Amino acid sequence: MSTEPGYILAAEPRPTARVAGSELLWPIRRVLCVGRNYADHAREMGSDPDREPPFFFSKPGDAVVEAAGKVAYPPLTHDLHHEVELVVAIGRAASNASAEEAVAAIFGYAVGVDLTRRDLQNQAKDLRRPWDWAKGFDQSAPMSPVVPLARELSTGRIWLSVNGELRQDGDIADMIWAVPDIIASASKSIRLLPGDLIFTGTPGGVSALHPGDVVAGGVAEVAEFSFEISGAELSDQG
Ligand code: MN
Repeated sequence: MSTEPGYILAAEPRPTARVAGSELLWPIRRVLCVGRNYADHAREMGSDPDREPPFFFSKPGDAVVEAAGKVAYPPLTHDLHHEVELVVAIGRAASNASAEEAVAAIFGYAVGVDLTRRDLQNQAKDLRRPWDWAKGFDQSAPMSPVVPLARELSTGRIWLSVNGELRQDGDIADMIWAVPDIIASASKSIRLLPGDLIFTGTPGGVSALHPGDVVAGGVAEVAEFSFEISGAELSDQG
């Protein structure tokens, strides 16, 4: 008879997302994010979009919250930006994957917002420091439910509006690195496992959010969302 060792502290359950059309939950593992994957956004951030291979940063799994209801305005910033992104949900392990294996690893998709404390990110860039504090704060990854769609998605409108005003309006066909490229590339550096989520980068038009703003967006064939930025957390420490 074996006895499972217990935990010395209360062990938080794994973070989850809802799955469209199912009562079952998506168990969130890692959250990877691709930087500068649309030429117009790379240019608005001051980079040359033609010269960079894909690069990644990450957010904690529990940074994901449902893109509905209220999402907190985080502390330490006066320049919170929205970045609407197609999110790939990984359903099968992938290590050093070929393009075909990368497609086979796709469980489905979601639509997410890579919320960014842009002032902290610019400071980190200037000081050659990591981006974590700019990208990985609590509730920094509002996301729609995961939609089962086990195939490559290579075209479709991606958009985001603030208080009804369109701010981002692109097409995922304009991604510099397509979904299979991104999965294959990530899998050469780490072993992707079921539950991993990959935010695939944002088109141009990123801009500042303020408490009380209503943020809506979507990707064709995947999902649409709407949430409000809560004013309660606005801090003056930035
Ligand atoms: Mn992003």
